[in-house]
Amino acid sequence: TTTRRPLMAGNWKMNLTHLEAIALVQKLAFSLNDDDLEKVEVAVLPPFTDLRSVQTLIDADRYNLAYGGQDLSPQDSGAYTGDISGAMLAKLGCTYVVVGHSERRQYHAETDELVAAKIKAAYKHGLTPILCVGEPLEVRQENRHVEHTLAQLDGALDGLGAEQAASIVVAYEPVWAIGTGEVATPDDAQELAAAIRERLAKLYGADVAAKVRVLYGGSVKASNVKPIMEQPDVDGALVGGASINADEFALIARYH
Ligand code: PEP
Repeated sequence: TTTRRPLMAGNWKMNLTHLEAIALVQKLAFSLNDDDLEKVEVAVLPPFTDLRSVQTLIDADRYNLAYGGQDLSPQDSGAYTGDISGAMLAKLGCTYVVVGHSERRQYHAETDELVAAKIKAAYKHGLTPILCVGEPLEVRQENRHVEHTLAQLDGALDGLGAEQAASIVVAYEPVWAIGTGEVATPDDAQELAAAIRERLAKLYGADVAAKVRVLYGGSVKASNVKPIMEQPDVDGALVGGASINADEFALIARYH
C-alpha cells in the first residue's frame, strides 16, 4: 500500500579502525544481492575519517550502497576548528547526513535551533538529512512521549519549506532504547511513526507526509526487525550497534 522504499541505515558511531571500515563495506556488499537492494535501500554512516575510503571502495566496485556522515556544521566554511561542513560531505559523495542524534543532543548540547540550522545546511549542500527525534525514559514514564517527540520535530523543521521537507528522513529513536538492548515494541514504533507522519501532514500536506520515510531506531537486531518493519508507517531502521557486524546488518536489511 506504500511506495516508500525502505531505508536501512547503519550508524557506526565512533567505532572501527580504518581497515575494519573497509572490510565491513566489502563484506556487506558481498552479502547483499541486487534483489535485496532493489527492495531496500542500504546506507552506511561511518565516522568522517572513513568516508573517503568508503567512497573510493563503493565507486570503484560500483556497490549499490549509499553512505553519509553522522553530523555536519550549520556553517558553510570558516573558523570552526574541528567541524565538518555539508560541502565537504557532498564533495565526498555523501547522500545522507544524520542530524540531531540523541548522543549529539546529550553530549554536545545540541538544541532544536541548532538542529534546524543543520537541516538547512544539509539541504543547501544537496544532502538528505536523517533527522533523529525521540524521548528519554522519564518523558515516556510521564506519558508525554508523543508531545515531546513532535515538539522536537516542529523545532527541527522550523522555517523549512515543503519541497525540502518531502525528501527528509525522520528517525524515531526513543533514547531509552538506544544502545540498551531494550527495543520499543512494534506498536510503540508505529504509534510514533504515525504521529510524526500526521504532524508532517498538518505542516506540509498529505502528499508530502506520504513521501517521507520514517525510520525506527533503538536496539534493532535481525531477531526483532521484522515485526517493526511490518508496521504501516515504519519505513526502515536506523541501526547502531548491530550495523558494525556485516552478517547481522545484512540480515536486518533482508528482514522480509
Ligand atoms: C543509533 O545509534 O541510532 C541506534 C539506534 O543505536 P543502537 O541500534 O545501538 O540502539
